[in-house]
Amino acid sequence: QPVIGVLALQGDFREHLAALARLGVEGREIRLPSELAGISGLIIPGGESTTIGRLIERFGLREPIVEFARSGRPIWGTCAGMIVLAREVDPETRARTQHLLGLLDIVVRRNAFGPQIESFETDLEIPAVGSEPVRAVFIRAPVVAEMGPAVEPLARLTDGTVAAVRQGNLIGTAFHPELTGDDRFHAWFCRLAREHSPAVQLEPATRGA
Ligand code: GLN
Repeated sequence: QPVIGVLALQGDFREHLAALARLGVEGREIRLPSELAGISGLIIPGGESTTIGRLIERFGLREPIVEFARSGRPIWGTCAGMIVLAREVDPETRARTQHLLGLLDIVVRRNAFGPQIESFETDLEIPAVGSEPVRAVFIRAPVVAEMGPAVEPLARLTDGTVAAVRQGNLIGTAFHPELTGDDRFHAWFCRLAREHSPAVQLEPATRGA
């Protein structure tokens, strides 16, 4: 079984840990670089992207998380977490100090639905995750304004706005699957993490023995 790390600097990391617990998957709070050892996948939760980005710098987590991504293990950012993963924030919506990991080749627009529609829910088709629509909760949510060629959209709103993306081992969702009690998105992420767990990577060698 993979152990999934949840970045626990700020935001709704407890809700992600609860979703993992419902699936019977071990989750671990990550605050220090050393805590990334033995983790097969990392979730960066929703919250406030400026705060999370600042704390990543302060706790010396930037390089370790970039290394984690380079190792091929999956990282999933929800809402603020997706912003932190992004290459760029649209200048009009960027905070004065906005530290980004720059791993996902996307440009995001923060608080993209405007103050009138601070939050809303809708059903999204996400074939990667399941055949039944997924309930998606958007809270002061960003949207993906631009995507690089390696980025694949996983979900769109009815007007075509991209609300979830994947770039290899990197996943971003503008919404919050940890808040609905529908844990299929987490189950899918855990499957990705399992594929990258050390036990699985050793399999081809042992099979030949
Ligand atoms: N608006 C927040 C930000 O820009 C994200 C909101 C959320 O994570 N629910 O960081």
